[in-house]
Amino acid sequence: MPKFDAIATSTVRKADHLEPGFVHKADIEIAARKLAARKRKPNILIYLMDDVGWGDFGCYGGGVAVGAPTPNFDKIARGGLQLTSCYSEPSCSPSRATLHTGRVPNRHGLHRPPMYGEPGGLQGEVTLPMLLGQAGYTTQAVGKWHIGENIESQPQNVGYDDFYGFLSVSDMYTEWRDPHFFPEIVYSDARTEWIKNMPFNRCFVHATKGKEATNVEEVTIPVLSELDEKWCRYSIDFIKKQAKSDKPWLLYHCTRGAHFDNYPHEKYLGKSPARHPYKDTLLELDEIMGRLVEALRESGQLEDTLIFISSDNGPHMETWPDAAFTPFRCAKGSTWEGGVRVPGLLYWPGTIDAGRQSDGLFDFNDILPTALALAGASDLLPADRYIDGIDQSSFILAPNGLSSRKYHYYWLSQTFSGLRCGEYKMVLSATSDDSTDAAGTGGFTGVLERFAYPRLYNLYLDPKEQHNYLTRKLAYVEAFQLGMRNHLGTFKRFPPKKVMGIKVADTRSPSS
Ligand code: CA
Repeated sequence: MPKFDAIATSTVRKADHLEPGFVHKADIEIAARKLAARKRKPNILIYLMDDVGWGDFGCYGGGVAVGAPTPNFDKIARGGLQLTSCYSEPSCSPSRATLHTGRVPNRHGLHRPPMYGEPGGLQGEVTLPMLLGQAGYTTQAVGKWHIGENIESQPQNVGYDDFYGFLSVSDMYTEWRDPHFFPEIVYSDARTEWIKNMPFNRCFVHATKGKEATNVEEVTIPVLSELDEKWCRYSIDFIKKQAKSDKPWLLYHCTRGAHFDNYPHEKYLGKSPARHPYKDTLLELDEIMGRLVEALRESGQLEDTLIFISSDNGPHMETWPDAAFTPFRCAKGSTWEGGVRVPGLLYWPGTIDAGRQSDGLFDFNDILPTALALAGASDLLPADRYIDGIDQSSFILAPNGLSSRKYHYYWLSQTFSGLRCGEYKMVLSATSDDSTDAAGTGGFTGVLERFAYPRLYNLYLDPKEQHNYLTRKLAYVEAFQLGMRNHLGTFKRFPPKKVMGIKVADTRSPSS
């Protein structure tokens, strides 16, 4: 039998509503043995940062080299599995909804983030905390939410037992308070009043399952600078409390940092070698991760807990220098690699072998089916909707495990942008194709372009996606067309959904 190869090997589709995947039998057997030997279901800690770049950690080539050492992340990388091709969606809310549903944005409908109290969110979706709750888990969300401020989409109403954090996104709480960014609002009583009357909650909140969220504190600039510290303490308390419980748990800890604008906690202000707010914030995020690991160790839960560390999208270069580091093309908001390739660390001492690195494809939508498999609850996966995620438990648990995913699909809002298989990426549509993209500037600024012919990039030879290789590599076209046909074909049986922007369109007068 020929050796496995991502382009040359076929996938298996187990059901119409499930994404086809590779079946690595030997890996699956090892993973099953590892899970069978465990006495209890694993806890799952997802540590999701905001707008942190693929390259920011030392273990990805940044760290000391870019003025912000990350000793804790680097140590975790050495102790577990470091993914080099972990994929988010191009911006916050689409990524977070994909993580929660195992579905691409064109299915869960959050094509872009809701802002300033706009309606729309996770409502109506089957979520990771709902399913793990059914599997006997205690479910806790801490920190940034941003998958719907409307009551039905708030965390306590889509599966979480408890939530402590803010419902939207960092800049919305502070940008209009800072005369550096918004002098025309800060120095205008009328505009300040106008902002305050917008239908978004200016406080961070606490909520318990099914109950109304209560305000904790208004997020002023000084309060914002302390949020990551407060949220860290809340998660540490949760970890300590759970040590006394028999129930496994899910902790979804989302940091405030390092989304623009960064106002570092005074403990970290000017402490990075770069002496820049973004870099100071990275120091704090690294230290918080270290504290959470220490809390798990001290409470005897470290070897019972799978930790997944990532960022919800690539760097936001339109806010430079409050921005991250990526070696790839373009930035947040785009489907070039810089927009969607994010750090991905998986750590589970004693179960995931230390020192592993893999360039196998891993999608945010793989998290839900993988978590269910680790919890022994794959039968809870919904059958009434298409699930884009693939169970990657054998990839994670087998010592030399291979990814079960053949294709990553790139979606730019409602436009299918392209797909990756192996080291190749085919691009049909993308944000404006000029030299500024390649230099890594704005992902939101570009114009959407549909190319006359598909472009093919070799991401190993050309990580900045500048050299179209199609003419010399036509043999690959069929493999990509097959993946594209299969993926787009699923939307005929399972129609796409749109959540964002509906109310605006519906209420607009015909003449406007
Ligand atoms: Ca983000």
